[in-house]
Amino acid sequence: MERVELLSPAGDLERLKIACIYGADAIYIGGKDYSLRANASNFNFEDIKEGCDFAHKLGKKVYLALNIVFHNEDIEGVYDYIKNVVDLGIDAFIVSDLFLVRYIKSNFSVEVHLSTQASITNYQSVLFLKQEHIDRVVLAREVSRDDIKKIIEKTGVDIEVFIHGAMCTFVSGRCVLSNYFTNRDSNRGGCAQICRFCFDINEEDEKFSMAVKDLNMASYIKDLIEIGVKSFKIEGRMRSPFYLAVVLSSYRRIIDAIYDNKLTDDLLEKELKILGRVANRDNSTHFYFKEADLTDQYYTGRQESSNQDYLGIVIDKDNHLYTINQRNYFKLGDEIEIITPNMDIINYKVDNLYNEKMEEITVANQADSILKIKIDFDLPKFSMLRKKYLD
Ligand code: SF4
Repeated sequence: MERVELLSPAGDLERLKIACIYGADAIYIGGKDYSLRANASNFNFEDIKEGCDFAHKLGKKVYLALNIVFHNEDIEGVYDYIKNVVDLGIDAFIVSDLFLVRYIKSNFSVEVHLSTQASITNYQSVLFLKQEHIDRVVLAREVSRDDIKKIIEKTGVDIEVFIHGAMCTFVSGRCVLSNYFTNRDSNRGGCAQICRFCFDINEEDEKFSMAVKDLNMASYIKDLIEIGVKSFKIEGRMRSPFYLAVVLSSYRRIIDAIYDNKLTDDLLEKELKILGRVANRDNSTHFYFKEADLTDQYYTGRQESSNQDYLGIVIDKDNHLYTINQRNYFKLGDEIEIITPNMDIINYKVDNLYNEKMEEITVANQADSILKIKIDFDLPKFSMLRKKYLD
């Protein structure tokens, strides 16, 4: 049986590779132009080529977002850009403007997916897009579970939905807060996250924020598979490699357990714990089962703490001597976990530690330094060390 696709974001080449080896079936990226995350490093033509080659060798796909809101001045260069990118091996374009659907489908044999930015919420719109030979529609995040089901039943078009990550306070990014507050156009990649700001609302120092909680559909993956969703999208081209590895491997284990008939309450509880640990906000299911309301939002704002759980990544190995690029503080005697591209979670006690010159040390306290550790079992390259998530 064809399994549902797990679709990961990647803000640069390193993240694309991490996503490929930590369980994604496909990766969506942005080029230097025409995509909505101007603050991500994004991909130049060489990166796109290398990313496509890397992903294709592992049987994964790469989708390129061309989903800004196009103004007249954006149109001139886009035709050449599309041609160049098709030649690099992209598997699909994610577009929001309807002229691109017809233009790409008429001129190239490459898939076109309609972006969530187009705010599709009903089956008539999807039927219209079907006439334009659209390959997939990414629904607006504001669509309920029953409407997703109805759209799939009435259209037969492949449907993708977001299952995890940050939400917009406005309809799927159709927001001009950043334009007014920072002179940056949200709909051309300039979102400054104004909805997360805290605003004074009176002289008594009372605050007001529009920030919403994150989306987490881990408990309802089976239901979404059963109603016929084809692709599960993770939000976040700005997210770190560590975040991607943790979130992707968690959803990979859940999805595989469902198809292998092995999903248990214990497994789900464990994965929810892992996903909760890597999140920096509370989460909810937002519009899936009811209209979003007060319980899905932080009216008075919230401090967002940085996550110090990521301890390091295996960048090289010589038999059982591993070279680690360190990220956060840890020391001899610490009980930690190692996550691997094979989806394993291994308990490990740090019982030796060396600097780059193989001098013994007791503490790893210089972020981004190179360390060596002898570990008497096999670990693949790109395995990651993290603080202990599970008892
Ligand atoms: S400011 Fe908030 S609501 Fe507006 S586009 Fe950015 S994240 Fe979305």
